[in-house]
Amino acid sequence: MTGGTFYKEEIEQLPRGDLDALVDERVRYTVKYAAEHSPFYQRWFAEHTIDPGAIREHEDLLALPVISGQSIRENQPPVTSGFLFRSVGWESIFTIHETSGTSGTPKSFFLTWADWQRYAEKYARIFVSQGLGSGDRVVICASYGMNVGANTMTLAAKEIGMTVIPTGKCSFPPRVFSAYRPTAIVGSVFKLLRLARRMESEGMPPKESSVERLIVGGESFADESRNYLGEVWDREVFNTYGSTEGTMCGECHTRAGLHVPEDLVHLDVYDPHRDTFVPEGECGRIVLTTLLAPGEHCGTLLLNYDTEDTTVVISRDRCSCGRTHMRIMNPQREAETVWVAGTPFNRVDIERGVFQRDNMDLVTGEYEAFVAPGDEEGEVVLQVSMEYQDPAGPGWRGVEERFRASFFRYKKRLEDAEEDGLFRIEYRFVRPGGLEMSSSKGRPRRLIDRR
Ligand SMILES: [Zn+2]
Repeated sequence: MTGGTFYKEEIEQLPRGDLDALVDERVRYTVKYAAEHSPFYQRWFAEHTIDPGAIREHEDLLALPVISGQSIRENQPPVTSGFLFRSVGWESIFTIHETSGTSGTPKSFFLTWADWQRYAEKYARIFVSQGLGSGDRVVICASYGMNVGANTMTLAAKEIGMTVIPTGKCSFPPRVFSAYRPTAIVGSVFKLLRLARRMESEGMPPKESSVERLIVGGESFADESRNYLGEVWDREVFNTYGSTEGTMCGECHTRAGLHVPEDLVHLDVYDPHRDTFVPEGECGRIVLTTLLAPGEHCGTLLLNYDTEDTTVVISRDRCSCGRTHMRIMNPQREAETVWVAGTPFNRVDIERGVFQRDNMDLVTGEYEAFVAPGDEEGEVVLQVSMEYQDPAGPGWRGVEERFRASFFRYKKRLEDAEEDGLFRIEYRFVRPGGLEMSSSKGRPRRLIDRR
């Protein structure tokens, strides 16, 4: 069922020294391209008295300021009359995209046909590294909208001879399974869990389906929820991380972190509190820089762009799959991090508590959480709501205890705050469909700070 082991073997196995040299050559060209074609960066270089010609290698990027999504919003209509990040003429723009930002105006992104080909190449490498290829039929549940993921995955399929069934959502009719016998599905953890429940109820157990592997992405998740998804389907689950900005990273078949296509996008990990890049093994924000090969053009070019997602670089050593490109941990969204009593916790920490294995016979995995002021002065309450499977189930106490143990495991200060009466966890168990987010539209927000 599979194609080759590599999509572009020579590049994917390039020794570290050669890969760094290739990156440096592309950094020099990309910076030069920005200085010549990006109205935003022309002004940025001048304002920060940066000599673009002095940026010779990727380490030089560390000395430059970091820009953010806000920088993009402030340099596009309605704030400015034109799109200052657009770095090629209108006649060369193939498609226009928007990111579904959680706040304010969506950010606009412009892609040339060459950008499409580069995005597709990133996905093609990921799919091949996960064992997909000619003969595979892949249902793409990721949405075909103003974001770029599903669209460029489809182009990637052409590159590797794979068939795509572009349903765009996981609520497709059961005949898709019987008629086309798909071998893989791309979707989010929760969509694929819901799909599994639906298949069970329609007498078509996912374990007996033609599907051989699942590819998840689109949101961060706890290892526990991925493991549970793998168990429900009895299939391997591979992770991908993609964004309209062009960071397409994915796990290879060894599942030892997500490979970053280092020749196509440069990724650094930055500590916004210390205003510096963090060393390997430490957590920080992902800062990315577009990389263009000499002579290439691109629609929206980014240098030192803070994605507001956090990760840790696992290794720059060769992976056991043979790839030399660095591996990172599953990124988390900084926007989904909440601080209580001087301690941060992320939505994923809540998800981990919910998906403790012994909970899963009692709850469905669907959850939402709110942080709110408590009754006492200075008290903060974390309200966790979970859907239960079995309304007669007597096991709530156990669910609560397992959640607690998981949640406080690496959060001693929060546990101390609980002892001091400054923090409390409240649990609610609701009927399927009874969560507040079930009645709201759009991407579900599972952790909301109401203080
Ligand atoms: Zn690998």
